[in-house]
Amino acid sequence: MQFQPVFEKIERPILIAGPCSAETEEQVLETARGLAPLGIDLFRAGIWKPRTRPGAFEGVGTEGLAWLRRVKQEVGLKTTTEVANTQHVFEALKYGIDVLWVGARTTVNPFSVQEVADALSGVDIPVLVKNPVNADLKLWMGAIERIYKAGIRRIAAVHRGFSVHGETKFRNAPLWQLPIELKRVFPDLQIICDHSHICGRRDILAPIAQQALDLGYDGLMTEVHPRPDEAWSDAEQQVTPFAYGEMVRHLTARQITTSNEDFLKSLDFLRHQIDEIDDRLMQLLGSRMKLADQIGEYKKQNNISIYQPTRWNEILEHAVEKGRALGLSEEFVAVVLKGIHEESIAHQSKVMHGPVLSA
Ligand code: PEP
Ligand code: MN
Repeated sequence: MQFQPVFEKIERPILIAGPCSAETEEQVLETARGLAPLGIDLFRAGIWKPRTRPGAFEGVGTEGLAWLRRVKQEVGLKTTTEVANTQHVFEALKYGIDVLWVGARTTVNPFSVQEVADALSGVDIPVLVKNPVNADLKLWMGAIERIYKAGIRRIAAVHRGFSVHGETKFRNAPLWQLPIELKRVFPDLQIICDHSHICGRRDILAPIAQQALDLGYDGLMTEVHPRPDEAWSDAEQQVTPFAYGEMVRHLTARQITTSNEDFLKSLDFLRHQIDEIDDRLMQLLGSRMKLADQIGEYKKQNNISIYQPTRWNEILEHAVEKGRALGLSEEFVAVVLKGIHEESIAHQSKVMHGPVLSA
């Protein structure tokens, strides 16, 4: 597949910004007027909102498309909105929307993606394809391929993070290795980081945007609202046009590569992966200790001793064997597991009779 760029190559990141949802004509125009002087490349606003549960604001519908048309005509910004079915595509085209995007909840469903692709057949309009909600690279690739097969060549990917079970600091875990793999498979596909949906909160938007640029992303998609706290959807992650401008001003765009830059980039790429693995290790250890707490409770109820030598030997032997196959030395595995085991015993003891003094 040979993609064409959705955005002409420029020396700075491509900027897509606008509210999560179009709420009122005033809110849309006010946001656009706040963003236009910052030189953004594309104005976003959701017209039809796929909500996880019914009852939440589901978007203003077709009426909002006329507001986006005013953004284009009066403020001079190109516009984009999410489409999830044939009717959305036809309506958006009728109102002259410049770029369409396929949302995360649509990318997960090949029937829906195919419906959108069929509606686009013979139309020359750029399409952004968000990653699916779940961490499935093939679904993401499949959605891109379906749109491509409909004859669309100007396609870009939008990385908005993945839904994972359990508490994390992100609303949607970035799992950077997935978009990086996508870029490896489709090297000429532009890739945009939707850090708003990754973060789900304002305070970490800037470092995640910077991380995306450091990894060589082509641009950013950011949710911006004139009064974020009053937003009808995704209030916690939206920022004012002013705050957005400040964030963008402080970002460092990475330069065109020299061989030395290449080296640094690869190093960064590896380090980010290591950080992510470390985060996952911590989460796994946390989950393991929660299980230890439960076991402690159970042993207490049944009056069983905490330390079970046969069980510990089994765990150790199994891990050493597994580790060996993965190129890990026996000493290393033993040290790591011993630490984990000690912590696990401490957790169980605490459950049984309050905190113990460590050795
Ligand atoms: C959005 O961009 O407002 C949206 C609904 O995003 P996603 O499909 O990534 O959840
Ligand atoms: Mn949103």
